[in-house]
Amino acid sequence: MKRAAHALPEALARLEAAQLRRRRTTVEGFAEEDSRARVVLGGRALVDFSSNDYLGLARHPALAAAMGAAARAAGAGSAASHLVTGHGTEHERLEEELAAFTRRERALLFSTGYMANLAVMGAFAGRGERILLDRLSHASLIDGALLSGAELARYRHADAEGAARALDEDPARTTIVGTDGVFSMDGDVAPLPALSLTARRADAWLVVDDAHGLGVVGAGGRGTLEECGLGSAEVPVLVGTLGKAFGSFGAFVAGDADLIEYLIQKARSYIYTTALPQPVAAASRRALALAQSEDWRRTRLSSLIERFRRNAADAEVPLALSRTPIQPVVLGSESAALAAQRELEEAGLRVVAIRAPTVPKGTARLRVALTAAHTESQVDQLAEALGRCCARLRAQGAA
Ligand code: PMP
Repeated sequence: MKRAAHALPEALARLEAAQLRRRRTTVEGFAEEDSRARVVLGGRALVDFSSNDYLGLARHPALAAAMGAAARAAGAGSAASHLVTGHGTEHERLEEELAAFTRRERALLFSTGYMANLAVMGAFAGRGERILLDRLSHASLIDGALLSGAELARYRHADAEGAARALDEDPARTTIVGTDGVFSMDGDVAPLPALSLTARRADAWLVVDDAHGLGVVGAGGRGTLEECGLGSAEVPVLVGTLGKAFGSFGAFVAGDADLIEYLIQKARSYIYTTALPQPVAAASRRALALAQSEDWRRTRLSSLIERFRRNAADAEVPLALSRTPIQPVVLGSESAALAAQRELEEAGLRVVAIRAPTVPKGTARLRVALTAAHTESQVDQLAEALGRCCARLRAQGAA
């Protein structure tokens, strides 16, 4: 169907009427030095519980300094793709450091996690084959699967037995089983040991996108695979991002040397794009070192998570089964989630409502994300405000 220009206002109005229209807000600045815990929006400082800056590194002065130094040495832009003349020493070193961090033979940098997932799916699956994904996998895994031309099958969220049954429907054609490590909108962790056994039974590769686990979960922040003791034999493809816990930008795939070499040859979202700026890679290197050496950031985050869950439970906030910094409060309808967002905003707290299609219809929520940069009193304030808000919604029969 052709979409005529005059039909767009109508389509936008439909989104608005369904409370599904999304709006950007401009962060005008930050209320504190070296931290993005309080963002300035519309001239007001609000405590930001919607970032992925889990370790509080995004405004660390060492990252900005590394960026500045690399920009002076190498320039702002890479000026070419990696396979032409865009690949520099900061990229090369970051890849070596990421390989060491993930204890895999090699790592390959991508500009974004979205592109890394397109690369993996397109390189390792195609027409006539089948990809099996968790129903709540990130959009980039799904889009990568669709773009690959393979058939996409999905199993019930975090259901290892469901995955095994789905695999048994057509084991010969299933080449990839894919999942988030920590689910981006739910905060729970995938049943990785069981999934790895299932995938191996059919000689399929398990792809784990640990965008929200790396830096946060596991010893030294080595992620969900470290926590489960799974190496590259069990999970051949590990995808990580650098724009979340590492406070920088970019992404990578880690795996055996041949696997990475194959991606370099075949992955279109690697080959046909300008290399990530070297200053960004330099900031990521600094972040990776800090994330490993400063265990206190994870300790602090864990204690804030526990504190939030305790206080929120006392305030009768419906919590999800999550031990990670992602603590969704599922409210159901779009209007309830939007009303809750507005109410929290009035109390000085920024928690963005997440609606369909990012989450399934009927499960609109506030996605609370805690960071090591938050204070105890900010977390207490959030639990209290959520308690009030949920009580009001219950009284109105809206949640
Ligand atoms: N995977 C997951 C699980 C994510 O949550 C995200 C980002 N929201 C991505 C991949 C994409 O990463 P990037 O933002 O670097 O494109």
